[in-house]
Amino acid sequence: MEEDTTQGCPFCTLAAKLESDELDLILGASMMEPDIRIQTNKLGFCPDHFSKMLRHGKRLPLALILESHLNELKSDTMKKGVVKSPEKAAARIRELNSTCYVCKRIGDNYYRMLANAAYMWGQDFDFRKKFASQPYLCGRHFADICEVAKKEVGKRLAPDLCAAAAQLYGNKLEDLSDEVSRFCRSFNHSYQDEPIGNAATSVERSIEFLK
Ligand SMILES: [Zn+2]
Ligand SMILES: [Zn+2]
Repeated sequence: MEEDTTQGCPFCTLAAKLESDELDLILGASMMEPDIRIQTNKLGFCPDHFSKMLRHGKRLPLALILESHLNELKSDTMKKGVVKSPEKAAARIRELNSTCYVCKRIGDNYYRMLANAAYMWGQDFDFRKKFASQPYLCGRHFADICEVAKKEVGKRLAPDLCAAAAQLYGNKLEDLSDEVSRFCRSFNHSYQDEPIGNAATSVERSIEFLK
């Protein structure tokens, strides 16, 4: 089920936009840039971003990235068609499996996005009102905004920003927990008259909130 971006955690919406912009760039304008190619060859991609690039549907740009990536991996781990040092090759693969070009790019921009929101919250009362009127914050973004708060709004205001974020997180946790219980009860004949309402989609929404 696609998430309704107007009803969800605003930082999840922004993070999804950062990711989709990065995928557009790497399979579009950035794809042939030599310095970007050096980075994609060095860092590779995580399983999630390989799958997302595949689903993006741009086969030729993806194939060109892979051609270069496989060639470099060959020259890193093989000589004349043979893996000369299995230990060194395995170490290079382990290193490659721990990095991802898209994750790295998103990570840099993700911190700036949270830092900017925290800074605005510290400076602008209208932004505080807008923040408080968001549908909810997921667990990850509640924890991350609290983490960033200390640095971006200072020690005095950080607990207030953290409390505002906690309220957006806590209300949703309370609602979802009730809805999932209602969904579970819907399988029990004793509760067959209880209307299920929104609880029908509570499993999907709980996972979205938790992941
Ligand atoms: Zn979120
Ligand atoms: Zn990744």
